[in-house]
Amino acid sequence: MSDVRQHADDIHDQFSDHIDVSVDDVEERLTTLVDEYKVPIDEARRSVTNHYLEEAGLEREDISQGGSEEVNVEDIDKPEQWIDLTAKVIELWDPRSDSVAQVGLLGDPTGTIKFTKWAKSDLPSLEEGAVYDLRNVVTDEYQGRYSVKLNSTTVIEELDEDIEVGDDTSEIEGALVDMQSGSGLIKRCPKEDCTRVLQNGRCNEHGEVEGEFDLRIKAVVDDGIDAHEVIFDKEATEDLTGLSLEEAKDMAMDALDTTIVADEIHEDIVGTYYRIEGPTFGRYVLADDVEELDGPADAEQLLIRARSM
Ligand SMILES: [Zn+2]
Repeated sequence: MSDVRQHADDIHDQFSDHIDVSVDDVEERLTTLVDEYKVPIDEARRSVTNHYLEEAGLEREDISQGGSEEVNVEDIDKPEQWIDLTAKVIELWDPRSDSVAQVGLLGDPTGTIKFTKWAKSDLPSLEEGAVYDLRNVVTDEYQGRYSVKLNSTTVIEELDEDIEVGDDTSEIEGALVDMQSGSGLIKRCPKEDCTRVLQNGRCNEHGEVEGEFDLRIKAVVDDGIDAHEVIFDKEATEDLTGLSLEEAKDMAMDALDTTIVADEIHEDIVGTYYRIEGPTFGRYVLADDVEELDGPADAEQLLIRARSM
């Protein structure tokens, strides 16, 4: 392929989703500039790109840089890459800004990743549980975690199929250095499909409700390199602490105070070394498989370091 033809091909890829243009058209424009007007190829390419931007009514940042590539979630390891993804919407979250139309979690067989869809990009709504072919999305990175952004050039096509979402399993070996608030004996909203944790007897969505007791731990585990947030559900908490939900309720009843449960658990687990395996959801690892370790010789050091964070 000639140089000009290659450039024409690239430009065509950038615009083929937006306007009806052939590679030949693009090549002809480039050739005219290069051959007749002796414009350097880079400048010719810029000029032709601008021409099509105008024709398509797009801004430069709206078009992908040299065609996007179909990738799997696990391959995303750089920001500002234009990619295509086939993924399922695992969950939608409440956008915290008016500039965001939708935000949530996407997944494919290799893992999960957060996505953001801008309000101004005017794209169709994604549905929870549906599978989409997403072309022209841009990767982003914040504090070492990757996400993808849907923009005005993104092409969304719903697929009539289901895909198995990979667990993105993590294995962490380290000291459990902290337990976060919201751990221990908690109450959840009893409304169907809600299960939000109540704050002072109130659900964020449903107001004052008669909560249902549950056990959970939100822990921070330091593997010596990173601090990981790990969630233990009721079963995992019971396994970890040997304390059942019933025993925890009795304990709280006797003390007339639910925080005694968290205090007890804190005493029991903070400073202990574990190997934890489980799926990753957003920034959390769900503890599926937990094994207590003897701990390395420098466990004390880890704790000192963790306290200084
Ligand atoms: Zn609720």
